Amino acid sequence: MIYKICKECEKENNKNRWCKECNTKHFQQNFKNWTSGNNDIDKFIQDTQLSATNYEKVLEWIPYNKLYDIEYIAKGGFGKVYKAKWIDGYIRSWDINENWKRDCSNWLVALKSLNNSENVTSEFINEIKMHCMAREYQTVSVIRVYGITQDPETKNYMMVLPYAEDGSLRAYLDKNYHELSWETKIGYLHHITSGLKSIHNNGLTHRDLHIGNILSFGFVSQVMITDMGLCKPADYNASENPKN
Ligand SMILES: [Zn+2]
Repeated sequence: MIYKICKECEKENNKNRWCKECNTKHFQQNFKNWTSGNNDIDKFIQDTQLSATNYEKVLEWIPYNKLYDIEYIAKGGFGKVYKAKWIDGYIRSWDINENWKRDCSNWLVALKSLNNSENVTSEFINEIKMHCMAREYQTVSVIRVYGITQDPETKNYMMVLPYAEDGSLRAYLDKNYHELSWETKIGYLHHITSGLKSIHNNGLTHRDLHIGNILSFGFVSQVMITDMGLCKPADYNASENPKN
């Protein structure tokens, strides 16, 4: 099967319609134009860009001034959540006009900070890494992370994710349970199991799955697993790592 030819090198794209060779080059050429101000985060983002085999694997440094209408939403156990609009939207493919073609510009996104993430970068990076590792291509049931930004005032780093208008599945069911059809309810169960399947297929366990860590996107009848902060490889031995 032919997955379209790359317009630049004229070789065949991979099955996800992505030319790794050309796209790696474009990302690399842009490394000099951005920095998060933290070497570990820079390296982490760069690594995801260089190893990406489809657009969903790409993380970006998202400058704070690319976000607007930023609004505080809630405080979680580990940090704060805001909603905002992202001017650019996420990278989809390279176009022939020498720039990235993007989707969903000016869409709502969620910004999730970890308290003191200016210092706690390894935990912060690990949570995002788990999101990336747990998702198979086009697995919508595990939420993806678009990139990382930094609040210029608190200096806290924040992950940028799709915004779930309805909040958690708990909050959504509290309001809408009686209006939902059985078909929709079974659909939600299916999303949760397929999200878990994707996590497990990638050798991971979530370790904190509950209805508050499942987000509801009611307008498309979709739920997604989130909060991967405690997610670990399946062979992780908690007794050898008492801190976690
Ligand atoms: Zn190419």
